[in-house]
Amino acid sequence: MTAHDRERLARHLGLDVPAMLADCAESVNGKVRLRAGADGYCVFFKHGEGCGVHQGRPDICRAWPYFRGNLVDASSWEMIQTDCPGVNVEAGHALFVREGVDYLYEHGLVHEPGDDSPHALVLDASLARRKDP
Ligand code: SF4
Repeated sequence: MTAHDRERLARHLGLDVPAMLADCAESVNGKVRLRAGADGYCVFFKHGEGCGVHQGRPDICRAWPYFRGNLVDASSWEMIQTDCPGVNVEAGHALFVREGVDYLYEHGLVHEPGDDSPHALVLDASLARRKDP
């Protein structure tokens, strides 16, 4: 979670950032992430309901399924088709990439070189170019 993610999630939960981090986050290899519950899923995942903090979820969750790996690697995109019913298999990977790049830009989920926004997702130049028709 970026600093922006932490502040938004803490606000959503009605906590200050240190309290939110103590309740639901952990630090791994210098990065702060949400903890998993005893079932191995995100501590906010509710079986049968989905995300329990939808309005406050981190940017990485907002970016799904347009993760960089799924954009640059068609085989990764093929693998997520098993678990993500929203992926339109018939439309193909090229359209997935175009729509994904548009979505990431439209939702402020892109961090480009020189951009000091708090967002963590990075599109390299080859992907950034794909936003143009
Ligand atoms: S969308 Fe993100 S915050 Fe919500 S349950 Fe899934 S991993 Fe957790």
